Amino acid sequence: MNYLTQESWQNFSPGNLSLKLPAVQATVVAPIIKEASDASRNWSNTPLSQRIELLKNAQSAITEAKEELAREIATETGKPITESLGEVAAVIAKFDLSFQDAENHLRPQTITDGPHPAQVRQRPRGLAVVIGPFNFPLHLGHGANVAHLLAGNPVIFKPSPLAANVAGHYARLMQQHLPPGTFGLVQGGAAQAISLCKHPLTRAVCFTGSVTAGRALAQELAADISKELALELGGRNAVVACEDADLELAATAVADGLCLTCGQRCNATSRVIVNKAVAADFEKCLLHSLERYKPGYPLTPATKLGPLINSQSLERYSSLINTAAEWVLPGSVPSDVCGLRGHYVTPAIRRGTGNMEAEPFAPVLELETFETDAEAVVKANATPFGLTVSVFTKSESRFRALADELFAGNIYANLPTTFSPSTLPFGGFGLSGNGRPAGRGFIRFTTHEQAIQTAGF
Ligand code: NAD
Repeated sequence: MNYLTQESWQNFSPGNLSLKLPAVQATVVAPIIKEASDASRNWSNTPLSQRIELLKNAQSAITEAKEELAREIATETGKPITESLGEVAAVIAKFDLSFQDAENHLRPQTITDGPHPAQVRQRPRGLAVVIGPFNFPLHLGHGANVAHLLAGNPVIFKPSPLAANVAGHYARLMQQHLPPGTFGLVQGGAAQAISLCKHPLTRAVCFTGSVTAGRALAQELAADISKELALELGGRNAVVACEDADLELAATAVADGLCLTCGQRCNATSRVIVNKAVAADFEKCLLHSLERYKPGYPLTPATKLGPLINSQSLERYSSLINTAAEWVLPGSVPSDVCGLRGHYVTPAIRRGTGNMEAEPFAPVLELETFETDAEAVVKANATPFGLTVSVFTKSESRFRALADELFAGNIYANLPTTFSPSTLPFGGFGLSGNGRPAGRGFIRFTTHEQAIQTAGF
């Protein structure tokens, strides 16, 4: 059943501002919570094998709809169609990885080295709320949704209002294959998110989004310390390019990390720290590699650089490129692309650093140089975030020595900062978050660990 409020909004396609998407109505929160809470006991008592069977049916439905979902992501968020297809493929693959993780994590352990026979087992936490961002409107919420469902927790998904249509389609496909109330959808913004999260029946919250919103939410929930809050926030991710690096490879990786999803990825590359001895050569390679990234309509298969999500992002980009600095590549805002008006921008590169506490969330890159590896580490770590860092060097021992000093949850050698496969945990240190909801193994944060000890039988 749909519980709708009078509040509604309509998104424009960021790649074609004359295309208005269907209106979305915000959801009344209380009845959805009631339905989820009513479903809780049955779902937690459903054997894991049966939960997996039901989710496999949802996986098949999503697989059948994959091209349609990808087109909807591209239309609603401006993500190029090849990337959108990749996102839906990641959603489909995530089911299988999550099934494996659940089978491992939910298996009880027998403890034999204690004073009495004992077992450690995992119990469902209860109702989970999953709040998603616009930039991976399906994939990021989905990982947490599936982990919680496998753990026996009913889920209410509150997607980004900027991607409400495609998220609604995904949620309907999931709901068709799950018992009523087990997977709820709430449409809306911060007000709906806060009201869902603060509800006393909500036992776990998984939030993916900006530091500002994550911090505000943590403050709202601070009084109820029994709620589990997992936060997946931003990044200010650097590439460190050493003088022995394959400079063309490094430049290609930086261009990709800067421009994928128009720089709107938590693991986007927003900084390069390059050895002074090769800085000039690296810059040439980078400018050459960026020629691949011309703004294009997101649904055109050849497009590699789509638009930004909305006018606020465009304003933020414009203020960044108008900052006084030495610009190696000045950015620009094309008035149209292939005759279409949209939130299109071009990549921009400046020397020196900007605000290390704010993600550009647009294709704006800062270049710095270093002379010693110790200096590279200080510069790479000079941000309160700690999500991903990539090092380009041909020396494995040098990479490993740097990796020991770098402050980030994901450290890669000779790969783009955006190369984060679902087979690995993903998440950051510092302001980048906690609980690792976006990666492999998040299920360990979805359960209560319980110790059972027996004596006197
Ligand atoms: P956002 O913070 O604006 O919104 C994210 C979600 O939070 C939306 O559903 C929104 O409605 C909701 N929200 C907004 N204010 C809230 C509040 N006060 N309390 C509760 N919920 C609130 O983020 P966005 O623009 O959609 O996404 C971009 C941000 O997400 C970037 O900062 C990016 O780095 C981050 N992100 C992080 C990861 C990661 O894995 N670390 C992945 C994707 C995106």
